[in-house]
Amino acid sequence: LSWQRVLGHDNLVRSFEQAVGRGRLAHAYLFAGPSGVGKRLFAEELAKTLLCEGRLPDRFEACDQCPACIQVAAGTHPDLFRAARPAEKLEFPIEVMRELCRGLGMKAARGRGKVAIVDDADDLNEESANCFLKTLEEPPPGSLLLLIARSADRQLATILSRCQVIHFKPLPEELVAQLVIAHEIEDRSFAQRLARLSNGSPGQALALADPALWQFRRQFIESLVKVPFDSVAVSKTLTQFVEEAGKESAAQRQRAALVLGLVLEFINGCLAHALGAPPSVMEPEDQPLFEQMAARADPEQLLSILDRCLEAEHHVDRRVQLVLALEAWADALGQLQAN
Ligand SMILES: [Zn+2]
Repeated sequence: LSWQRVLGHDNLVRSFEQAVGRGRLAHAYLFAGPSGVGKRLFAEELAKTLLCEGRLPDRFEACDQCPACIQVAAGTHPDLFRAARPAEKLEFPIEVMRELCRGLGMKAARGRGKVAIVDDADDLNEESANCFLKTLEEPPPGSLLLLIARSADRQLATILSRCQVIHFKPLPEELVAQLVIAHEIEDRSFAQRLARLSNGSPGQALALADPALWQFRRQFIESLVKVPFDSVAVSKTLTQFVEEAGKESAAQRQRAALVLGLVLEFINGCLAHALGAPPSVMEPEDQPLFEQMAARADPEQLLSILDRCLEAEHHVDRRVQLVLALEAWADALGQLQAN
């Protein structure tokens, strides 16, 4: 049953079911919410449901068997258009958008209307946004436009005013943990830790499961608690580790963000330890490191470190040049520790 792949968004499924049942589907939606919570999966299922040719009239569910369903699953349906920012690009290129709009302007091939899924809408630049805006202002008849973005705030007001915004919320921690376990991570306490770190995003939790990341975390934290802190060496290993994620800037940025998240979690743990919170049952192996850190940084310094980590997170997210952002972060950590 096709919607079963979409977890944690039952209310949204029901509201789309009602909208379709009453013939009140809007022409364009903006799916907004944290990455990895299932927005794209939802868009894919919605597209498949609408394009399905074997669906019973009273069921809001693709049959998964008709030619249309099979084409959607294979990525070959002529009336389903997908566009995204290429992984190596920082912005959504206008050429990609032009191609999408051209396809949408043609007659539907299978007669069930057309669906466009535009991913990475956060990265539309002025050119590509304005190109899309023309299609949004005069959508081809029978077409549905689905934009996917992390935040509605980053969209142009002109785009926003023509879309119905659907907010995707983070999933409950327990559901994320179940999903992680379903992906063959059998260690329950590790799965729970990933879920807790994921901020309700299964995609994030699975990305965090990478063993290389935990190995690097250990190495990074060991150098963080050491006196003196060698910011040049740390910056070098950090940059190297991030670059090993792949040639594409998106992969490197994702890895940098994951490292930052893990270090933030550690510093938070140190702070809790310094303020006398009971030892966490989740990370017994971190206790000696908390103690080492407490010996070299008081709560005020820990707060400053936390601050610099959040700042670095912001820079990585806002596409400040990655290597520079990481170097500045390592440098700041060194300076704080020297006090
Ligand atoms: Zn079907």
